[in-house]
Amino acid sequence: MSETLFSKIIARQIPAHIIYEDTHVISFLDINPLSYGHILVIPKEAKAQMHELSEESAAALGRVLPKMARALLKVTGADGYNLLQNNGASAHQSVFHVHVHLIPQFSSTGKGLGLNWMPSQLTEGERLREKYATALTEELGRNLGARS
Ligand code: 5GP
Repeated sequence: MSETLFSKIIARQIPAHIIYEDTHVISFLDINPLSYGHILVIPKEAKAQMHELSEESAAALGRVLPKMARALLKVTGADGYNLLQNNGASAHQSVFHVHVHLIPQFSSTGKGLGLNWMPSQLTEGERLREKYATALTEELGRNLGARS
């Protein structure tokens, strides 16, 4: 994978406010925060998208997130937070090294991640939930038996 800004932060080639580091994971403040305390948590493994991560790296990332969220809540006084993890340019990814955004939400000011959650109208074919669920479970190599 080509070098990204984040691999340069890991290598200390460009500055960042690093707040946490272990063997597999590093975390630092987002340079352009949506709210006070917005941080990025990233695997050191240089993969562009989440589905490309090794199990080891993904597990290390998952392990660290609750700890980061606890610190963030305590230090910022936020009353909520969002995890955002964009994959692909169409999904608003701009830095092609896996990263999880942790974005504090403040009900007093409304600052945080703005969400415009709009359920979409599926086509007739897409509405066949049973077919889609079966295709996915087959892809995952699981037979879960009867579903609702
Ligand atoms: P994406 O849209 O890829 O999910 O988010 C990339 C994030 O990286 C953005 O929130 C942006 O502000 C942040 N970012 C981009 N370049 C830098 C940088 O050089 N340093 C830091 N700390 N954050 C960056």
